[in-house]
Parts: sequence; structure tokens; C-alpha cells
Amino acid sequence: MGFEYAPAPESRSIVDIKASYGLFIDGEFVDGRGSSFKTINPATEETLAEVAEASDADVDLAVKAARRAFRGWSRMSGKERAKYLFRIARIIQERGRELAVLESIDNGKPIKESRDVDVPVVAAHFFYYAGWADKLEYAGLGPNPQPLGVAGQVIPWNFPLLMLAWKVAPALACGNTVVLKPAETTPLTALLFAEICQQADLPPGVVNIVTGAGGTGQAVVSHPDVDKVAFTGSTAVGKAIARAIAGTDKKATLELGGKAANIVFDDAAIDQAIEGIVGGIFFNQGHVCCAGSRLLVQESVADEVLARLKRRMGTLRVGDPLDKNTDIGAINSAEQLGRIRELSEIGVAEGAERWAPACDLPSSGFWFPPTIFTGVTQAHRIAREEVFGPVLSVLTFRTPAEAVEKANNTPYGLSAGVWTEKGSRILHMASQLRAGVVWANTFNKFDPTSPFGGYKESGYGREGGRQGLAAYLKGADA
Ligand code: NAP
Ligand code: MG
Repeated sequence: MGFEYAPAPESRSIVDIKASYGLFIDGEFVDGRGSSFKTINPATEETLAEVAEASDADVDLAVKAARRAFRGWSRMSGKERAKYLFRIARIIQERGRELAVLESIDNGKPIKESRDVDVPVVAAHFFYYAGWADKLEYAGLGPNPQPLGVAGQVIPWNFPLLMLAWKVAPALACGNTVVLKPAETTPLTALLFAEICQQADLPPGVVNIVTGAGGTGQAVVSHPDVDKVAFTGSTAVGKAIARAIAGTDKKATLELGGKAANIVFDDAAIDQAIEGIVGGIFFNQGHVCCAGSRLLVQESVADEVLARLKRRMGTLRVGDPLDKNTDIGAINSAEQLGRIRELSEIGVAEGAERWAPACDLPSSGFWFPPTIFTGVTQAHRIAREEVFGPVLSVLTFRTPAEAVEKANNTPYGLSAGVWTEKGSRILHMASQLRAGVVWANTFNKFDPTSPFGGYKESGYGREGGRQGLAAYLKGADA
């Protein structure tokens, strides 16, 4: 086992969570016309706040506000729009600790991650797209690029603020206005972002936040005056949205699930690969669409890799998300925990061998230990379906060709990882893998300048980079 660590809790006094929240429409917080729901802290099950559930009528008001705001916002010079985006980016940095603590409380992710990954990458996205706002005609997307209009954006609970940034920053930079629906279990940082929009004096209606569940999301994407739909979430809901907007002239980007192969060759630097395997699957409790959830390890080094991986897993600290030493926080919801348990039990029933280090889990809240399955075959459901939790399936291969075949044997195609000392092998694998992102000797690295998106059932369209602008401009093709 690892060292004993004294508790190192981050103070939550920096956040001021209100008892109840309304909707953010036309620059103001307003009461919804629908009912309300509770958001909880998944590490303790305490209720954090009561949040308005936007009805169809509320969504309609938000879309109307966005439409009114579009006139001014789209005609404003790029240079002026950039000023607002730079201001938002700076406020995100200034209020970074508050955002990180609130994200960890509402979502369950370790403060180490919300503080060092989520919030800095969120700020970086706003800075990056602020820089594009007055340079759109140089983006290689046509001589006089024009915004689409009102964007309806629906995001999941695994990276609440980061997914907001991926959607809002490019939309605004291009001159669109937005109506965004955060996930039901993690609405609080989107509502704090609404306050930041007020603080930045963003013109009313440019950003509208409508909280709610699936029904609210449906109202946003199917509203007739929404020109562009941007969705991140499950493949099942993505397909439902594609059906709902078929036959309309709405433009859409869908960022869906994944089942990434993380491929370790026998010449890889093993200790470095172990860190990449751990980060690939246990980062954010494995609630990551691009998680390296299938480890493909070359047979000749499989025993050594597994032994070192198990030793490393024994040092992972699972527990209080606000403790600065925590590596793995709480599972986001009882429902998600149920899904992870069910698929893990199916893994055992189908004949795979389950292993997890001994670890004390807190008595309240939702927890799952870091887990690996060995003896997994490609037919097993844990090798095919997204577990979306801290569960790794281990498979082996003998030749590069077999690695490619197994890696691509999935309905998804979002990401992959390759670990080898050979540069030529990295390039060869990257050209063979049907995945939107291929990481070489690293994993789960996010940068606003680089496009992200999938093949096959992982969706279509790209977010991030110059390509991410195309999703918010008329007639543009990245
Ligand atoms: P989800 O059920 O698809 O939910 C995503 C969002 O859609 C939530 O805001 C949800 O509201 C809303 N929604 C549900 N039903 C809807 C409908 N019929 N019409 C419109 N909106 C609807 O997915 P999740 O369980 O929250 O997230 C996990 C999934 O997202 C995983 O499969 C993961 O791979 C995928 N994901 C993909 C990416 C990517 O970039 N490709 C990133 C993150 C996550 P509620 O919150 O109320 O359910
Ligand atoms: Mg919550």
C-alpha cells in the first residue's frame, strides 16, 4: 500500500450556494413556469439546491430572448465581441477556485482535477475563441463568414463547465447566441457562469441557461427557431435528437460515446504507460467519453504491465472529492453507479476476472473502486459497451495488425492511445485507427487548439480548434 495521508480538505467557504435557483433568460434570473428539482452532492447525498425545471414555455422565452439578442450580437464587430469573451475568460480565472470547488461539490470529481484541469481548460477555451472573433475571415472558412443564429446546446454531467465552454465559446465568437441546457445532476456551475456573464456585462439574451431534465433538452433542440443544435451525451439520446431534427434545416453537431483502445507495445516505457493507463481510465472516475476503457497490451509484456498496474492501483486514493489528495472521487449519481455495477456483474457472469485493490469507501454517497477485468474477449459486453466508470477491460494482442483490428472492432470511434518508443509505429497506428483523436505516449490531454470529435457512433462534427468554428458558421466546412 501507499503512504498514509492526513486529510487535506479544500475549504468550501468560497462558494455561496443558494437555496434555490431560477432560469437565466435575457440577462436575468427568472422564476420558471414549470416545477423544480433538487441537485445533490454525490459524495454525501446532501441536497445542495432546488433548481427550476424549464417548461416548453420557458424554453420558448429563452429562444425568443436569444433571437432578439442575435441582431445586435451578430452585427457587432468581431473585435468588440472578443472583448466580452476575453473578459469572461479573465473572470473565470479570477473566480477559478470558486468554480472548481462548486464543480467538485455538484459533480463529485476530485478537486485536484477540477482545479488543475477543468477550470484552466475552460478559461483557455474562452481565451482561444476570443482570439478568433476578429479573425474569422482568415480561418479558411470562406471570405465573409456569417453566424447561424440561435444555437440550442445540451450538455452532459461529466464535465459540466468544460462542455459549456466547448459549446458557448465558439458559438459566441462566431456571432451566434445560445440557449444552453446543463445536465440535471450538475446545473450549478452553469448557473454560476450565468452570473459571470452578468459580471462581464454581456448583452442580455446572448447567453441563456435553462435548467431541467431530458424534456427540457428535447424542447431546446426541437424548438423551431433554433438554427443549430450542439449536443454532447449518450449515443442513444444523440440518435433521438438526429431523428427529431431530421427534415429541418437545423445544423447539428453530435459528440457521443466512446470505447477507446489504449494500446501498449512491448517496446513502450512501461512506467510511463502505467501512468497513462491509470489516467486514461480513472481520471474523472472514468466518466469520460474518450476514456481508455480497453487496454490492449502486447502479450510479451502483459504479465509485467498487469503486475505494475495493480501495484499502482493500490496507491490510488478514493474518497472525499474536496480532499486535495483524492485521486478518485464520487460516482455522479445513484443511477450511474447502478449502471457500472450492472455491467461489472455482467463481466463476471460472462467469465472475465475482476480485480480491485482493497479500499475503504465512505458509507454515504456513491462510490466504486478502481477495477480491472482480465481474461476479457471482444465478445464480452464490458469490452463493447461504455461502462462510463472506473472499470478497465484488459485484452492482449501479438502483432500490430491484430492491435489495429481489435482497436477498431467497436461501434465507436472517438479516441485511442498508442504507447511505443518507435515514431514510425506511432504514425502507422494513427493512420490505421478509426478514432477522432489518437494520443501517442500520453492520454486524455485536452487543448482548445486541437479539434475533438468522433467517427461512427461517436457522432459527427468537431469541437475545438479552427475546425470548431465551422460548426457555428454558415456554409462552412472544416
Ligand atoms: P445523456 O443521457 O445523453 O444526457 C446528455 C444531456 O442530454 C443531458 O443534459 C440530458 O438531460 C439531455 N437529454 C436527455 N434526453 C434528452 C432528449 N430526449 N433530448 C434532448 N436532450 C436530452 O447522457 P449522460 O448520461 O448525461 O452522459 C453520459 C454520456 O455522454 C456517455 O455516453 C458519454 O460517452 C457521453 N459523452 C460524450 C462526450 C463527447 O464529447 N463525445 C462528452 C461527454 C459525455 P438530463 O441531464 O436530464 O439527463
Ligand atoms: Mg449534483
